[in-house]
Amino acid sequence: MNWNKESQQIIKGVDNANKLLGKEMMVEGSFPIKIPMEFFNLIDLTNPDDPLLKQVSPVINEGEIQFKKDPLDDNQFSSIPGLIHKYKNRALIIASRSCSIHCQYCFRKNFEYKVHDIFSNLEEIVSYLKSHIEIDEVILSGGDPFTLSDEKLKKIIDPINDIPHIKTIRFHTRTLVVIPDRIRSGLVDYLKSIRLNIVIVFHINHPNEIGSKFINFINELEDFRLLNQSVLLKGVNDKPETLKALSIKLFEIGILPYYLHLLDEVEGSEHFFISEKDAKSIHKNLQKLVSGYLVPRLVKDENLESKTWK
Ligand code: SF4
Repeated sequence: MNWNKESQQIIKGVDNANKLLGKEMMVEGSFPIKIPMEFFNLIDLTNPDDPLLKQVSPVINEGEIQFKKDPLDDNQFSSIPGLIHKYKNRALIIASRSCSIHCQYCFRKNFEYKVHDIFSNLEEIVSYLKSHIEIDEVILSGGDPFTLSDEKLKKIIDPINDIPHIKTIRFHTRTLVVIPDRIRSGLVDYLKSIRLNIVIVFHINHPNEIGSKFINFINELEDFRLLNQSVLLKGVNDKPETLKALSIKLFEIGILPYYLHLLDEVEGSEHFFISEKDAKSIHKNLQKLVSGYLVPRLVKDENLESKTWK
């Protein structure tokens, strides 16, 4: 499969999105519209409240609450551009500036990616990792690491694979879900060939996002640890029954629910907000519906490692 060709089948901009939707549903927001066709095809176009459509539709905030541009301010943990070292045993690399989809609630939508160009700083980052023997896990995030070509990924991973104290490499990705053909692009053979343990953390919020192509291709990742993180979003997955359906569907294809994040309070996501009290109640009700291993940990920014590592 030609990954680059597939990746070009992406809807960009309000006009193109509205044309495909057949009506003026989308507006210009603070985060440009970007929807892969694979994801778009899973939207129920007859339903204006479709949970997938909601995630990619900008909403002009007319409410009283106004969230911040950069609620996490990860820059404070970055001594080298492209690397964030916040927790002792693990460091995160901003592997890519780009995502295959634009989620309107994204906490990184205003992140200064230009400052964190990995390829201008790769040597320095690798030296840092070598000299910090307490780091045993490296997380490739972004953006989305799988928006990079295999060649670029190898440029990052190969030197990390040569550092003996690093045991695990973790990928945070939505690309493999929204463009499943990316799984079948020679990538898996390369990942199987390296020494490191591989953990892939998907980002799936609703069971409808798990399409038949992703289900068909997921077996190719069976040698790796597969986890999922979701963001709890009002109107998308704020019913315990929806989360139950998501957990069961994930489990059926070999992915364990890992984290359920409270929303980061980033501008343009105000309409997705769920209070901590309501989130705890939803989570508690989910615990009554599924076995413990199918209940993701409910986490929020201050006390949560993965928030920064998303
Ligand atoms: S970083 Fe994650 S949440 Fe943000 S746009 Fe990319 S896939 Fe969506």
